[in-house]
Amino acid sequence: MNHYQISTSHQTPNDLAVRCPKCQSNHVRRQNVGRRTGAAIGTVGGAAAGVSGAIAGAETGAVVGAIAGPAGAALGGLAGAILGGIFGASTGCVAGAKVGEVFDEKLLDNQQCITCGHEFSS
Ligand SMILES: [Zn+2]
Repeated sequence: MNHYQISTSHQTPNDLAVRCPKCQSNHVRRQNVGRRTGAAIGTVGGAAAGVSGAIAGAETGAVVGAIAGPAGAALGGLAGAILGGIFGASTGCVAGAKVGEVFDEKLLDNQQCITCGHEFSS
């Protein structure tokens, strides 16, 4: 019986129970394609949505700032755009990763056997 050393640190205990249906190796890793893709799409989409939302916020900030003075208008608009982008990106990243996780679990061949290269879903 072959004994496989677990050399990768990113595996969770749950993965250790997964075996390749083709060669029965327990040397299997999660690909998390959907999670990574979702996080990337969510980050970009969230940042875009955050910035576009921040434009409205920046205008509000500019109006408020304009009352306080020209420097306030610049600061209010800039802060609104930056915060909107950061907030949108982080929110989108988390949301996208969550959506991607569902795809990983339900739809994609998320597991790959390191021994024989066979891809399968968990
Ligand atoms: Zn295999």
